Amino acid sequence: MTTSPASPADVLVVGGGIGGLSAAFALAREGLRVRVLEQAREFGEVGAGLQIAPNCTRILHDYGLLEEAKSLGVLPRSMVMRDAVDGSELTRLDLLDLEHEYGFPYMVIHRSDLHGIFLRACRRAGVDLVTDARITAYENTAPGARVLLADGRADQARIVIAADGLRSVARRLLSDDEPVSSSYVAYRAAVPIEQVGRDVDLGEVSVHVGPRCHFVQYGLRGGGMLNQVAVFESPKALAGEEDWGTPDELDAAFAATCPEVRAGIPLMWRDRRWRMFDRDPIMTWVDGDIVLLGDAAHPPLQYMAQGAIMAIEDGWVLARHVAASHAEDGTIDWQGALAAYEAVRPEHCRRVVTTARAWGELWHLDGVARLQRNALLRARDTYDYSFTEWIYGPTALTPEEEPPMFTPIPLDSVDVADLMDTAEPAP
Ligand SMILES: Cc1cc2nc3c(=O)[nH]c(=O)nc-3n(C[C@H](O)[C@H](O)[C@H](O)COP(=O)(O)OP(=O)(O)OC[C@H]3O[C@@H](n4cnc5c(N)ncnc54)[C@H](O)[C@@H]3O)c2cc1C
Repeated sequence: MTTSPASPADVLVVGGGIGGLSAAFALAREGLRVRVLEQAREFGEVGAGLQIAPNCTRILHDYGLLEEAKSLGVLPRSMVMRDAVDGSELTRLDLLDLEHEYGFPYMVIHRSDLHGIFLRACRRAGVDLVTDARITAYENTAPGARVLLADGRADQARIVIAADGLRSVARRLLSDDEPVSSSYVAYRAAVPIEQVGRDVDLGEVSVHVGPRCHFVQYGLRGGGMLNQVAVFESPKALAGEEDWGTPDELDAAFAATCPEVRAGIPLMWRDRRWRMFDRDPIMTWVDGDIVLLGDAAHPPLQYMAQGAIMAIEDGWVLARHVAASHAEDGTIDWQGALAAYEAVRPEHCRRVVTTARAWGELWHLDGVARLQRNALLRARDTYDYSFTEWIYGPTALTPEEEPPMFTPIPLDSVDVADLMDTAEPAP
């Protein structure tokens, strides 16, 4: 085994996704020498749109990257949730008022554009960006840590950040858990607006929720593209079949939805699909000088649209604690910085991961429970922010700053007898 010939780094970041690159940039801004090791041939992102809420645009502003993001994304006017069966409106957010409430906008952006923003920012900040570097093992060298590459090389630094995603190798140091399959699968599409062939309000993030399925759409790239996500529970997955989430299941899952949703299904990319996994929360993210970040630490189901945001918040929080632990002689109290990071981020992310599971269950209800959910959502005032306060406010740096969570309203608080009299049952 040979040691990497590259110049020494203070921090190695494994994984050049949105989490790894944003953390690398945040630490380079603090004057650290940072190297990113990415397994792919090139840095890039597959997929389509991302929603980024005020708790993320606030950080982009702090990084001086918000204007670039705004120039590439779309600032929608509203987010509207509708019932996927009958198409009726359930609740909405006025995103212009929401920006006023939280001080920063709610944006939608192509994920490759957001990734590109961080990649360019890393280059400007002097981050050493290495591709074709697959890490197979990690070890603490006290002080410091070392990574082993698949091609036999090794590299080391004072701190190693593992931002290696859902199937993180580093996570095995801290937990023997495995990804948890939800049996749901996502199909995506991001297509030029000329190909859409129907009228779509690109100023709206639209979410249709239905029995065992949902459908999301919004505009991208200044309204030049339409982004769609169609998600459903796979009967083949539930039956234990290997090849699950297939296109025939997509068609069947949306066959009984309203015309607006059905009109979007033919546009979905059929050659790619994303099976939905998360992992149970873990509260320990630090092993010596190796630390987890992003999906490696807290992969969520995507229903809260906070996965990439949490990853970006992780890097921002870590960098703020590094800055606070920097002594005048240039030394950094790394153990203090890592402990401060671990004191605040796992609990916040635990809340998001578990709420995303519950939010997904609520979206996909059928029968009477669906009617109860609809009644609860319709009763919410558009300008009631009690359900978003815990998530869209400033990212907490300490446990004391973490806001309290919302109080859930039980479904069975809605009178079922009344609903059966007045509402049409689900098919
Ligand atoms: C359908 C869908 C919709 C979503 N919508 C939203 C949304 O609207 N808003 C939002 O905030 N989030 C959303 N998310 C979640 C978001 O995409 C992820 O949480 C986020 O991309 C995680 O970023 P990451 O950098 O931590 O991990 P990843 O993006 O998985 O990046 C990990 C990187 O590490 C590299 N890597 C892995 N293993 C190794 C190794 N051994 N050696 C070297 N490199 C390695 C990989 O190649 C990859 O580049 C969505 C997810 C899905 C599936």
